[in-house]
Amino acid sequence: MALTNEQYDTIMRIYNHKQMRNHQIVAYRTDELYSAVPTLHQLDAEVSNISISSITSMLDGGDAYSTLNASRQKLAELKAKRDSLITSAGYPADYLEPPYDCPDCKDTGFIDGKRCHCFKQAAINMIYKQSNISTILSKENFDSYDINLYSEDYRESEDGPSARDSAQLAYRTAKNFVQNFRTNGGNLLLLGQTGCGKTFLSNCIAKALLDQGHSVIYFTAFELFDIFEKQVFKKDSKVSDLHEQIFECDLLIIDDLGTEVSNSFTNSKLFECLNERLLRGKSTIISTNFSRNELRDAYSERITSRVLSCYTDIHLIGEDIRIKKVINNK
Ligand SMILES: [Zn+2]
Repeated sequence: MALTNEQYDTIMRIYNHKQMRNHQIVAYRTDELYSAVPTLHQLDAEVSNISISSITSMLDGGDAYSTLNASRQKLAELKAKRDSLITSAGYPADYLEPPYDCPDCKDTGFIDGKRCHCFKQAAINMIYKQSNISTILSKENFDSYDINLYSEDYRESEDGPSARDSAQLAYRTAKNFVQNFRTNGGNLLLLGQTGCGKTFLSNCIAKALLDQGHSVIYFTAFELFDIFEKQVFKKDSKVSDLHEQIFECDLLIIDDLGTEVSNSFTNSKLFECLNERLLRGKSTIISTNFSRNELRDAYSERITSRVLSCYTDIHLIGEDIRIKKVINNK
């Protein structure tokens, strides 16, 4: 993905900032522990002495293998002693481990010289101005999914499921989707009226997959169609390079399909996009106020019959839960 130098520098500055923060936290906690458990200081001095003396012994022509083995064993003993000193003082054993946002790359952005998944996501967030995504997702995730917002009495037809039943089924389907994502992938079509929690549910899924290290792009249909327009009319190679991630990210979320200004040209771009992602085995979630029949009327046959047949439906029904939430929070 092509980033400008400025974008690249901005991302690297954020990593530097995280590393500095980690360093400061560890330094602060080390001081704190040294004063709470004075013997720890001695123990740490012993650890560095062993490392130095084993190197010196090897440089002096000692038996490298047995020296290394002996010092490894000694270090393991000291580590166990150290952990027990820390925990007996009431601190967690990993209290002096840096609090990495991404343990995979230790907040450097790179693993073996290659960009870490967290770097790729940072680039996506920057290009698509998703900088507030982590704030939204910290509030909207499976832990905060509140089934009680859905009424047990509300039904769309007399013998249909209640809003609560639909929401429970939706929750289970979404959880399964996340659990099997790495092996099965798959696509979801979230159907339901405005305010019944489609965006919330797709945010729950996005958050869980981001936590697993997958790349996620979120667009409203309006934003995506805007990109389709610009991409073609500008005929700019940089622009299409930039948007390669729309085909390549692990999960693309298109929110509120049906609210955009569309025409036959943007519809065919939508088909291309969805079809290409299917061919590449990449997952997509579409949410819409339309029913499947209404989608058929609004979009081409190619989209509705060929593409959307590869999507699993999730139906949400009920009164506007956004209004309920506001009332409950008062
Ligand atoms: Zn990382």
